[in-house]
Amino acid sequence: MEPLSITKNAGTAVGAPDEEALGLIARFTRSTPKAEDLYIFTVTLCDNEIDRDNERFSVEALQTLSELFVGVTGIFDHSMKSSDQTARIYKTQVIRDESKLTSYGEPYVRLKAWCYMLRTPKNQELIDEIEGGIKKEVSVSCSVQAKLCSVCGHDLRSHECCHAVGETAQGKTCHAILSEPTDAYEWSFVAVPAQKNAGVSKSMRKIASTKKQDTTVSGKTPEDIMKAAVAAGGNVSLTPSQLQAMASYLEIMKSDAALVKEQRQDAEKDVLALAAFTLPEADTVMLGEMLGKLSSREIEMLRKALGARGDALTVCTPAFRQEDGKAAPDNSPFKI
Ligand SMILES: [Zn+2]
Repeated sequence: MEPLSITKNAGTAVGAPDEEALGLIARFTRSTPKAEDLYIFTVTLCDNEIDRDNERFSVEALQTLSELFVGVTGIFDHSMKSSDQTARIYKTQVIRDESKLTSYGEPYVRLKAWCYMLRTPKNQELIDEIEGGIKKEVSVSCSVQAKLCSVCGHDLRSHECCHAVGETAQGKTCHAILSEPTDAYEWSFVAVPAQKNAGVSKSMRKIASTKKQDTTVSGKTPEDIMKAAVAAGGNVSLTPSQLQAMASYLEIMKSDAALVKEQRQDAEKDVLALAAFTLPEADTVMLGEMLGKLSSREIEMLRKALGARGDALTVCTPAFRQEDGKAAPDNSPFKI
């Protein structure tokens, strides 16, 4: 029998164990469990929605976690460490809800867990709290191998990614996609969950990494920062002000480049116009193609040369001239 949900946010549900549940639970108990001794409830461990830390699990990660969390015990308070006060996950399932979309537009996927605990007098208070909907927010503790950038897809800790979680890039707010889980440590009920829907928070444990440590580079000007970064020869990290300096520098370079491009286009037009006048035999289409291969300086040189030649051709001796060298006020010298 499917446990009955009694909470609004699918955090916790209760029910009695059926044959299948008893069989699964038996893998974790020394003696054969009896239905009347067990209390069953479900929790949503985590999902693929972006949480308050701007992080979310990938669907593949939820799939891996669904295997890793089977058999993992829950922590309710520190006294729960003793064996008779343990809630344990005996079954998990990744549930995809096509009718509900995440904030970034993909179907909502959550990792649901079925848990059991012994019906002991010590556990009664907790059972009452679960049934009353007081205990419903769950936190998971696990380790992941990768924290991928939602904008570029690279690991946020790698030098290939230049984004920061929370900042807007390419019209999207950058968040971390927690991927490749390697271990599931524990889960517990908490007061304030990090994840919006599931009411789940997660604590990330530091994981052993073979990645090289980033080198912090010194330097304030973009040139100094670039030199130091190249000299470091590996993964480097920049301070926010260094990043800002590089970003401003790039902006200036971009606007300069746009100006240079405009000037070059003007110069090319001039060269073509001058060539039509001074080198009428030249094929203008071929000339245009040739210009495309020249540097801006070469085009400028050509413009000057053709301009000078054009001037020379324009200054021509009049066909008729008066004796005193002055141009006639009327056209009489031209009359025959
Ligand atoms: Zn990135």
